[in-house]
Amino acid sequence: MRADATIIPCVSGPLDDDTLMPAALALREGGLVVFPTETVYGLGANALDPHAVRRIFTAKGRPAGNPLIVHVPNAEGARALAGHWPETAAALAEQMWPGPVTIVVQRGPSVPDIVTGGGPTVALRCPDHPIARRLIELAGVPVAAPSANVSGSVSPTRVEHLCPRIRAASEYIIDAGPCEYGLESTVIDLTVTPPTLLRPGAMSRASIAAVVGPLSDDRSPSGGSPARSPGTQGKHYAPRAEVILVEIPASGEAHCRRGINDHLLRDRDERGKIAWVTHDPECEEVLSAAASVIVMPSSPRAYGRRLYAVLQELDAAGMETIAVHLPPDTPEWEAVRDRLRRAALR
Ligand code: AMP
Ligand code: MG
Repeated sequence: MRADATIIPCVSGPLDDDTLMPAALALREGGLVVFPTETVYGLGANALDPHAVRRIFTAKGRPAGNPLIVHVPNAEGARALAGHWPETAAALAEQMWPGPVTIVVQRGPSVPDIVTGGGPTVALRCPDHPIARRLIELAGVPVAAPSANVSGSVSPTRVEHLCPRIRAASEYIIDAGPCEYGLESTVIDLTVTPPTLLRPGAMSRASIAAVVGPLSDDRSPSGGSPARSPGTQGKHYAPRAEVILVEIPASGEAHCRRGINDHLLRDRDERGKIAWVTHDPECEEVLSAAASVIVMPSSPRAYGRRLYAVLQELDAAGMETIAVHLPPDTPEWEAVRDRLRRAALR
């Protein structure tokens, strides 16, 4: 087996082209490179090279029908890959890029089937991370990149979270420290009217709606086929430990909290070592038997930034169950709740 990837440290170092060039060349020549973005770390390959893209699917164990997001340095780069570039795409690109918004448009002829899962559309994004953008510019090719984790598991927000399988599959790993958002991009389908939210994410629904008007929701039934966005259904973003979600009414009285504790402890033997994760300092002690208690930030943005790291840490600490206090059902928590719900699916 090949040796592990070469790590390129960029945490505090200068962002110079000489440092990034070997990774850019590797991409151009069909290699895999793990690189930082403002959302999570990506596992990138030359999007125009089907063999290179196949290596992503193999490394991740990703189902072939789950299409990839193609990363471009600017709106021109996106347009070149689109079969049709609607006004809504131009407006979103103008106002939100670089940034954590992925837009789905009709694909152009240069995009290989393997990138789109064989479908008629392509997902495009210009990331807001200086290293990601420079890397893509230097590579001189669009870069297909899903999150740099094995399919279904938690996305890495730091290089320390990369699993051995992904490390072994990559030529280079660029380490730029923790990601700013820590949650994946928001995915919007612009091939339909009104534009449809396929995946909530780092950019809020409201800021996108302010540019393209109200968004409809993806109503394809779970597991239905074909799914509008194949990768957005089913269990995903999940740690090894079992995740259970706990709703506590805002006015949660003492007896209600006791009830939750009793409920969680009833199956204690099966649950094994249990962690309690809450965003409300007043709920810190709800779970009396918790082997580990994490009080998360109470702002959605800071919570999102920390979420995957916490799930990774609790896995590493040998937790068998992670009980998570579900944040409120309000727009600003939409992406966090989506990830928690999918992590908890069985
Ligand atoms: P990931 O790269 O793993 O963060 O996931 C990318 C997400 O974008 C998945 O949920 C895909 O289903 C979605 N996606 C990528 N390409 C398309 C496309 N052409 N049409 C609809 N959804 C897409
Ligand atoms: Mg992913």
